[in-house]
Amino acid sequence: MSFTRIRYDRPADHVARVTLARPEVRNAQDFTMLYEIDEALTTAGKDHDVKVVVLAADGQDFSAGHDLGFDMEEVKGSFTDPVVHQTTGDGQPGIEGWMPMECDAYVGLCQRWRDFPKPLIAQVQGRVIAGGLMLVWPCDLIVASRDASFRDPVVAFGVNGHEYFVHPWEWGHRKAKELLFTGNAMDAEEARAVGMVNHVVDRDDLEDFTLRLAGRIATRPMFGLKLAKMSVNAALDAQGQSDAVRTAFAYHQIGHANAFHRFGQVMDPDGPPMVRKEIREQSAARADHA
Ligand code: ZN
Repeated sequence: MSFTRIRYDRPADHVARVTLARPEVRNAQDFTMLYEIDEALTTAGKDHDVKVVVLAADGQDFSAGHDLGFDMEEVKGSFTDPVVHQTTGDGQPGIEGWMPMECDAYVGLCQRWRDFPKPLIAQVQGRVIAGGLMLVWPCDLIVASRDASFRDPVVAFGVNGHEYFVHPWEWGHRKAKELLFTGNAMDAEEARAVGMVNHVVDRDDLEDFTLRLAGRIATRPMFGLKLAKMSVNAALDAQGQSDAVRTAFAYHQIGHANAFHRFGQVMDPDGPPMVRKEIREQSAARADHA
């Protein structure tokens, strides 16, 4: 395997690790990164010696979200990228081209990773923004350092939230509404209090703690782990999670379609600068208090 956006290693017995390796852009996700993660997980899934996979990230921040990497003005909703495995819609104008891309590269990969047949542990530090949550939330367990924060500000873009809409399960329905409406972040301690994060640890202990947890899980038989995971996921689906994600994805596309109609591009052009300014100001305020 030769990767350009991630690293794949085996840090302990029966444990594989996928590390986001674009710290210079705060691990923003382009399509190459997303499909490299998927390829690495497929490899770990097939390897009978691997029982647990850790998803980690280099640098100060886990992930700043999607790196769209193209000019929204030019894309006009149509979409062509050789990395994305679209089956229909490739290069078609408007939402006809946009929706299948998001269906495959965003919500499709997230659902596939949620159902990955081995325990996945996210090891999270720093900021996790929008698409960053789409890497963390499909994982089974989340270990966060005290400085971690979790934010989905894309209502400012004129859509409902990021494409993998499990916010009510992760944050609780009332807090989900507040954080979507305001674009504010949930910090690590509150995320632990609402059940989104399993453990909050010091930054210096993050890697060791996560590997100890992975090692403990790896003492269990693989098939038992797989059945336990499938059973909890079945309970989420019995609550309607997959149906709700599908409905929210349709609403999300209505948001893109409305923006396309009003602005000639798939998001409100005022959104990105508004969000960048708020995050800059909030980060500066936190630094002042530190
Ligand atoms: Zn979208």
